[in-house]
Amino acid sequence: MKTMPDSKADPAAPPAGPAESGEGFSSSRDTGRTSATLRAAALLVLLVLVLFAAVRFHMWQTPPEMKQQLVLVNPWNPVSEIAYTPKLTEIEGGFLADKMCAEAAGRMLADCRAAGCRPMILSAYRSVDDQLVLYDEEVQRLVDRGFSPELAEEEVSRKIAAPGRSEHELGLALDLVDEDFTETSDRQAQTDTSRWLSENAWRYGFIQRYPEGSEEETGYAWHPWHYRYVGEGAAGNMHSLGITLEEYILMFYSEEASVVYDKT
Ligand SMILES: [Zn+2]
Repeated sequence: MKTMPDSKADPAAPPAGPAESGEGFSSSRDTGRTSATLRAAALLVLLVLVLFAAVRFHMWQTPPEMKQQLVLVNPWNPVSEIAYTPKLTEIEGGFLADKMCAEAAGRMLADCRAAGCRPMILSAYRSVDDQLVLYDEEVQRLVDRGFSPELAEEEVSRKIAAPGRSEHELGLALDLVDEDFTETSDRQAQTDTSRWLSENAWRYGFIQRYPEGSEEETGYAWHPWHYRYVGEGAAGNMHSLGITLEEYILMFYSEEASVVYDKT
């Protein structure tokens, strides 16, 4: 229902009309407010543009090998879909690892020992076939204990990556345990070695890839023994921001990295 102003119709200026000169103090205050809002909006747009340019510049400056070490492998991103060939070299214990990872791990393990700990490599590079054997053995072990094959597979996939979906196939992951306690369980986190590594690994370019409480993002349960080489800069950033590799890539490299993070 529309109500029309009667005799006082004229002074009621069109409410949404442009401010004319001589409209009174209230209108000029409105105009002032509008231009302040416009200035704030322009400043915000400028700020966003500067931020965007800064991130693009940062990515443009990122050398290709750094993108390589940030390559993402998780349950949603199999190794077969990425272009990455590890340059394998021998690492202590007769294991193989990518050259970048092996060199940094050598320094890290030496310093860890110098601090009085007893670190030991339990696993490093694994081929797809190695991963298949490992995965099948674990599924079989649970089936032997009475699990149905489906349930066994579901349980195993939380702890062990399915073949083609393990970072170990990149040569950039290491399983590190304490020589005196080699069990890959949550209790590994209580060893001196694990404590030293979780505090210092980032200085050498490693991150604890599957931290406690991050199963939603990473796809895997807590693995206090599993370390991933990402390079010193990225590891430092992830450590200080307290974020996973998935979150880091989404934040800085969603377009540029040779990887896609897509859970669908
Ligand atoms: Zn591992």
